[in-house]
This record gives sequence, C-alpha cells and structure tokens, in this order.
Amino acid sequence: MENVLTAKNVKKVYGARGNIFTALTGIDLDIKKGEFVGIMGPSGAGKTTLLNIISTIDTPTSGEVLIGNSNIVNMKEEELSSFRRNKLGFMFQDFNLLDTLTVKENIILPLALSKINPKEIEKRANEVSMILGIEDILNKYPYEISGGQKQRTAAARAIINKPQLILADEPTGALDSKASTELLQAMSDLNENNDATIMMVTHDAFAASYCKRIIFIKDGSLFTELVRSGSRKEFFQMILDVLRTLGGDTSDII
Ligand code: ADP
Ligand code: MG
Repeated sequence: MENVLTAKNVKKVYGARGNIFTALTGIDLDIKKGEFVGIMGPSGAGKTTLLNIISTIDTPTSGEVLIGNSNIVNMKEEELSSFRRNKLGFMFQDFNLLDTLTVKENIILPLALSKINPKEIEKRANEVSMILGIEDILNKYPYEISGGQKQRTAAARAIINKPQLILADEPTGALDSKASTELLQAMSDLNENNDATIMMVTHDAFAASYCKRIIFIKDGSLFTELVRSGSRKEFFQMILDVLRTLGGDTSDII
C-alpha cells in the first residue's frame, strides 16, 4: 500500500538560545492509505506538536514530512493553504462550526473556494450527510443541534473534499459517551467502507480502541506501537496496559 504520510526524523525545538525545549526528538512515522491510526501519550508528550506539523499549521525544526508525494515542509503559505483545502480534512475537539451558517453551509464550506460546480457540490453534500446520518438537520443552525450532531457535521465537512488524510484532534473530547460511541462508529465506518485514512490524537483509551493501530509517544519520541488483531474489547485492554507502563496519571488518560 502506498504511504499517505511519511515523516522522517521530525524534530521540533521550541524557544531560543539559552531557553530551548525539544518537543519532538526525531520522529519517524508512516501512515498507509486506508489506515486508522491513533496517537496517544501522556500530557506534554508532543502529540499536538506532531499533529500541528502534519496539519501544516506548524513547521518542524528539521526533518521531512511528505503527504502523498508532496513535501509540505518547504511549501509557501499560498501553496499550503490550497494544499490544506484540497488534501486534508480536519476535526477538532470543539467542532469549529460557524454559528451563522446552517449545517449544510458548514459542510460545503471547504468547497467554497474550489472550482467544483454547484450540482456536484449538492451531490457531495447529500452523500456525506447520508454517511454521517445528518440528512434531517441540514437546514438547522449549530445552536439548534446536539454535540454529537455537531461533531458529525464536522466529520461531514472533513470528508467533503475527499481528503487524502483526515486529521482529528480529540474529536470525542467534548462529547458524552453515547455521542462519542456514535461518532467513533461513524469514523470507523468511514475508514472501512470509504477507505478514508485517519490519524486521530486522543487521550481516551475507549476512543483509541476504534483505531487499527496506535502509536504511543513519550517525551517527544516513539515509545511503542500496537496493532489491532482481535476484537475491539481486547484491543482496549492492550491499550490500557500500555498506558499503565507509560506512567503518568491514568485517571487522566483512561
Ligand atoms: P501534548 O499534546 O502531547 O500534551 P504538546 O505537543 O502540546 O504535548 O507539547 C509538547 C511539549 O512542548 C510540552 O512540554 C509543551 O510545554 C511544549 N510546548 C508546546 N508548545 C510550545 C511552545 N509554543 N513553546 C514552548 N514550548 C512548547
Ligand atoms: Mg495536546
């Protein structure tokens, strides 16, 4: 399978002379097409730093990051914004929906600057809202829908441009357990049925158990990796075991 993401020896050093902090020590990471990868690790491990670099929001101090065949490290801002729009899908903990737009308008927002014709936009909006089960709320505003529906709207928005890679940062962080489960099932279906490639940062072992592979980082380095082979429940237990050996306050990470 082809790599969607290839990160080589990615380092991130914050600060200036005399007061520097190495947040990533030299990370190597490959994600193949069709994977659903979780990134876990204690607070301060470097998860957000890594996600921001892959999202093209931040740049590494050194190292290479390829998404598909594009080296995103040296891209100019203009090229980057079109790259983000066309190749990446984003989901955040706090949904990032615009309150003045309807659900449907929020979903099609990533296509606003594209050259895709209105008919095709309409068709895609219908497709993605069916996939996420939000076809009945397309004309509502974000303040009229539940947290779970907001996050499924955000998921629909993340996939409408058929991104090479979906990047999710704690997408269940603001959801109750029922809404979390529904969202994770939807993400898992997207991955299974639509061949979506997903990288999700989470501190939640239950959320992580929906992934097919988990990469654990600690102190800016790769700590270990788990690949799911058996049931989701077995995987959940394996994840808990690694989190225990990783240390830190488990009441926070479980
Ligand atoms: P995580 O998401 O795993 O909790 P982060 O990637 O946010 O960790 O942070 C990793 C480390 O880098 C932390 O020790 C954090 O304090 C430090 N850090 C993050 N951003 C900055 C910054 N802009 N300047 C200085 N240090 C930072
Ligand atoms: Mg973080």
